[in-house]
Amino acid sequence: MALYLKDATFLDWQTFEIRKTCLAVEMGVNGGLSFLERMPTHEQRAPHDRILDCAGKLVTKSFGCGHHHIYSTLARGMPAPQKTPVNFAEILKYIWWHLDKCLDLEMIEASALASAMYCVKNGVTLIIDHHASPFAVNESLSTIARAFDRVGISHLLCYEISDRDGEGVREEGLAETDAFLASGHQGHVGLHASFTVGDELLRKAVALAHKHATGLHMHVAEDPVDQEETQKRYGQRVIERLQQAGALALPKSILSHCIHLSEREKKLIRESGVWVAQNVESNQNNNVGLTSYASITGNTMLGTDGMHSDMLRSAKAAFLVGQSTEGIGFDEIYRRFHNVHQYARAFGMRGDGDNNLVILNYDAPTDVTADNFLGHFVYGIDSRHVATVISQGTALMEDGKILTVDENEVLGFAREMGKKLWGKMQRTKL
Ligand SMILES: [Zn+2]
Repeated sequence: MALYLKDATFLDWQTFEIRKTCLAVEMGVNGGLSFLERMPTHEQRAPHDRILDCAGKLVTKSFGCGHHHIYSTLARGMPAPQKTPVNFAEILKYIWWHLDKCLDLEMIEASALASAMYCVKNGVTLIIDHHASPFAVNESLSTIARAFDRVGISHLLCYEISDRDGEGVREEGLAETDAFLASGHQGHVGLHASFTVGDELLRKAVALAHKHATGLHMHVAEDPVDQEETQKRYGQRVIERLQQAGALALPKSILSHCIHLSEREKKLIRESGVWVAQNVESNQNNNVGLTSYASITGNTMLGTDGMHSDMLRSAKAAFLVGQSTEGIGFDEIYRRFHNVHQYARAFGMRGDGDNNLVILNYDAPTDVTADNFLGHFVYGIDSRHVATVISQGTALMEDGKILTVDENEVLGFAREMGKKLWGKMQRTKL
């Protein structure tokens, strides 16, 4: 079976070359894309081949999220925390660590299905997720993977292991990660953040990453508290500690945030080649500060930190913030937006090939050309233009309608699980 795109305006995401063409999209993992001068005739097509009419529409590479938290999906609209947080440590304690402790596998499944669906609606076919559910660790990653596979998006998952809930939960996190990666799934060894990770856990996590030829995925210096506590407990700054533990020698590692770093730490990251995920909307929401990523590394990609699944929105936010923090240009924000694909390539990831596409119904008031595309990217194209989404050669959404799951059913399940979660949170006194 093949998928044909008829009369497309195709934009090469790397060269910005625009061509009017028909396309044959190969199905399957890392499938390709071929340009056709004309559509195959009825006789030349197989019985189950599909044709999508793309006249007047812009076709290009689909999007990816470099740092997500599907576990936060059911937080939207939840009751106020038992105490109003006054700093980042309290935001964790009274909001996120309260929520994640109440999650069960059913709630995780609903969160993953709903988030995956929102990703598709926003043209995102690749999620790099960082998951926490300290009292439902076992099988949490396979539950998320199954939900993502059902919706049809590619993923790199991890469980955020820490010492914050004691040795038992920590060991469960290590075991879940080991079992998940050993079963052939792609992913990372997840850690929460340096200030919640003891030396023994850090050692074990680096060893586990080596065992599965992957990297760590962790929060780094999101708030000054990470540096302060790390220095108090371990006598080192966060990146120096990670370097000494061998974490920077794992080039597939993703360090999320990296806001409060010394010049020496920035240099260590830059020279190591590990990757950084930037999440400015979350940083503004938590009031933890901002930084110039240009001063850290070119290996910066964009994430949402679980706030939403709309990468075009994240790119615009990072562009606007970047005006004051680093004087960012159109080209650099676009490069960071798509860097997740360069990361996937460097990772050797399956599932982010050329057969991952968005079809945009982009009603531009001016011509779109190779020379001015970046202006359209920054000021024009947004998620409402995402009409059809193709992942690994299969259409997941067509003209705004999700094809792989029943949208109402998923949202109904999520609302039911949201009520269950909020009730449990209110019954659990901190
Ligand atoms: Zn995060």
